[in-house]
Amino acid sequence: MPELPEVEVTRRQLSPLLVGRTIRAVATTRPSRFFVTPPRTLARRLLGRRVLTLERRGKYLLARLDDDARLLLHLGMTGQLFAAGIPGVRLLSSTRGSALAPEQQAEAFRPDSHTHLIIRFSDGGPDVLFRDVRKFGRVQWLAAGESSPRLDRLGVDALQARPADLWSATRGRRRCIKALLLDQSVLAGVGNIYADEALFLAGVRPSRRAGRVSRAEGHRLLAGLKRVLQRSLATGGSSISDYIQPGGGRGRYQDERRVYGRTGEPCRRCRTPIVRRLIAQRGSHFCPRCQS
Ligand SMILES: [Zn+2]
Repeated sequence: MPELPEVEVTRRQLSPLLVGRTIRAVATTRPSRFFVTPPRTLARRLLGRRVLTLERRGKYLLARLDDDARLLLHLGMTGQLFAAGIPGVRLLSSTRGSALAPEQQAEAFRPDSHTHLIIRFSDGGPDVLFRDVRKFGRVQWLAAGESSPRLDRLGVDALQARPADLWSATRGRRRCIKALLLDQSVLAGVGNIYADEALFLAGVRPSRRAGRVSRAEGHRLLAGLKRVLQRSLATGGSSISDYIQPGGGRGRYQDERRVYGRTGEPCRRCRTPIVRRLIAQRGSHFCPRCQS
């Protein structure tokens, strides 16, 4: 699932494909949960508008339009935002992609039934496509000045958070630290991968009660979180299942994971096998020796 680094990498690469361009046409699939704003309304509102900026709030992208309306985009679990013309194989999961014949792998992507939004521009340059196989992604048009409960509930961005933000959120809390890290109203942008990695760096078990995390551990946890987020940004994010960059590239952070998805493999610090437990309704990975 795309988290802060993947969404930020998407923002950086998508910006030149959106900002300054005027929307000429919008094609969509049929109404579904993917469209918070019904597709016909969405298409009508976007037509003729120019994109002024593309911002990120937590895991959301927010395009500001020249009529002060905003377009809210969320990648969900398997969302892919990209420019038309990239090879189709890059849009498949790595297992399905490698199953294709070489000549199929070189073919440009053709919009399929999972391509829910296609934005075309008046300059005739590349279209921007939003594809989502599992449809947990969301698209919403917000009128000028319209607030969004999805955005209003977000806490401080994880990259901007100060130790005091995490400290005050954990005091007296019985819920486990992993659940607290995943709570977007506490730290926006954190998901399963980077929460597990940060907890490893801090030596804290994901199941520990948040209120039992010491001030020193809290410092280490936030520092570790920023470190893994920054490192993932620098390597283009994690492409573990479906995530791709708007230009068709894949991130490389998955090669540096310390615990996430490494069940049974030796801890990089002490060689104890990494274990996976269901914590906060999520598969959580940790070293039983290094984390307490
Ligand atoms: Zn260990």
